[in-house]
Amino acid sequence: VKRLAMKLLGISSLQRRILLLLAVVLFTTLVIIAITFLTVVSNAERDAWEGRQSEAARNATSQVANFIERMKVELEFIGQLAGDSAEIQSLIDDRIKQNPGLLEIVVVDRSGAILAATYHDEPVLARLLTIRQSNWFQTTTAGNEGTVYLGEVQLSSQNEPYMIMAGPTHFGGAVALRLNLIMLGNVVADIRLGETGTAFVVKSEGSLAADSDPGAVVNYVNLAGRPELEAARQTSKWTGAYTNFRGKQVIGTTNTIPGTDLIVFTEVEESEVYAAGHRALVQLGIMTILFFDGTMVVVTVFLRRLLFNPLERLQSGARAVEKGNLEFQVDIVRQDEIGRLTEAFNAMVRRLKAHDAERDHLIQDLQAAKRLAEDNSRLKSEFLSTMSHELRTPMNAIEGFTGIMLSRMGGVEFNNKAERYITRVNVNSKRLLQLINDFLDLSRVEAGRLELAHQLFSPADLARRWQTEIGVLAEKKNLGFDLTLDPDLPDLIYGDEEAISKVVLNLLGNAIKFTEQGKVSLSLQNDGDQWRIVVSDTGIGIPPHAREYIFEEFRQVDQSSRRKYGGSGLGLAIVQKYARTMGGTVTVQSDLGQGSTFTVFLPLEREHELETLGRVV
Ligand code: ADP
Repeated sequence: VKRLAMKLLGISSLQRRILLLLAVVLFTTLVIIAITFLTVVSNAERDAWEGRQSEAARNATSQVANFIERMKVELEFIGQLAGDSAEIQSLIDDRIKQNPGLLEIVVVDRSGAILAATYHDEPVLARLLTIRQSNWFQTTTAGNEGTVYLGEVQLSSQNEPYMIMAGPTHFGGAVALRLNLIMLGNVVADIRLGETGTAFVVKSEGSLAADSDPGAVVNYVNLAGRPELEAARQTSKWTGAYTNFRGKQVIGTTNTIPGTDLIVFTEVEESEVYAAGHRALVQLGIMTILFFDGTMVVVTVFLRRLLFNPLERLQSGARAVEKGNLEFQVDIVRQDEIGRLTEAFNAMVRRLKAHDAERDHLIQDLQAAKRLAEDNSRLKSEFLSTMSHELRTPMNAIEGFTGIMLSRMGGVEFNNKAERYITRVNVNSKRLLQLINDFLDLSRVEAGRLELAHQLFSPADLARRWQTEIGVLAEKKNLGFDLTLDPDLPDLIYGDEEAISKVVLNLLGNAIKFTEQGKVSLSLQNDGDQWRIVVSDTGIGIPPHAREYIFEEFRQVDQSSRRKYGGSGLGLAIVQKYARTMGGTVTVQSDLGQGSTFTVFLPLEREHELETLGRVV
């Protein structure tokens, strides 16, 4: 999951990381700029709308106030009239013609009896028999000087909304005007505010008095209980956002007409107020994305040209060189860091190539030298082996004939002196023969001509044969000889009896030679997939420093050893080389003056393992 995330985020690629970082920085910057810009734009827009709306609200309020004022003037004017009813009648007839806002005018005396009445459509007030009980009459004649009565919103029989306005007359009666609310509706309908702006008039108890849609008034729309009305009633001037009675989300401003309980609402739909802001948001969004994409494309192309492509080429160059193509040169010619890096890379590859050629030369020289050395070594071994072989025949003859002479066979006569000489010739030729035999053995191994037999033999039998052969020598020196056979050792194992004998007889010979008293022990042990031949003695021992080199040819512990014990220093070399050729090893442990133990480890190959191992004999 982590690796997948790393891959998706491009953490494994420099290119993707840089581009991702750039994208994040650029995008964040653009978003911050866009948000700031938008905030400024929409604030300015809202300020502008606020100005327009309060202007429209002022306008609407003054229009409505004007209307009411005109009606009040009519009321006062008629209230001042004196004279008989005929005179008043003609005057109000004239007034109603002049003022389309009036539907009916009724003038009553102190008792409520009609003095004069006129109307446009129908005599609603004049027809009333209960003027004395009417609210407007009661309120007006109660003596509240200066107050103007404004009644409920009502409908005529022609479904035309009206409202009664009443005031006192100077003779103690009352004037009642029936106001045409459609006219008032026309007044507010003329108010303009954007596309969706509207204005309407509400009585403070909630009934709709005037609206550009007369139907709403006719249907007795009532705003009672609505929060905007509650708010408007608290103060003479209020602005707020709310869902209006038409179900539209609006920003509204309210104004109370002074001296009345009429409230003018001016509303505009919020969507229109924020429309410009929204348009700006969309445009800005599109512009931001386009700018972002464009910039990223340009930056990507630029970075690819400048950085990533050359880097990729250098990378594939490095890969090619890694695979061994030293002919590779990256062809970027530039004056900048990449150019210099490329130059350095190419120089490095050329240098590598030169080194490579040099090394090849050296290897060839070395191989030639090695072949020569091998040839020489083989020639030496062959020469030694041939020489030894050739020397052996005459030496055998010398040793044989001096032996015959010393045994006085064939009636040979010689005096004591001659016998001493012949004895020395015989002993020395035996030594020489031994030396030659050792040489022959060594050179055989070195020339790789030692062919090992792979035959079944009984290790116990072999050990007994060694015992017989060597036991005589031990007896001569008054030394004991122990043979221990491990019962776990198989009866029959595979190997080359003769080679093993050469190793063990050499070790046993040394053990007897370097031991003056005590005993020599031979032990054969099973050791898992190996077997061990351990030869130990109680002789002079070998100093630690000499254990390093006694296995080398012609090396003895020191010169005095040669003088005292004779020998050529080839025995242990033969032991080690034979053991190694058989796949084994030789180790030595020794305590100076206490004795030495040589252990030969050889691979153990039992009788039944032949098939499983499938070894070729
Ligand atoms: P050589 O016996 O002919 O001198 P070897 O290669 O067999 O040569 O032995 C090398 C030397 O290692 C001997 O000269 C002797 O100094 C030392 N050496 C070998 N075997 C023993 C042993 N069993 N005890 C003490 N010294 C030994």
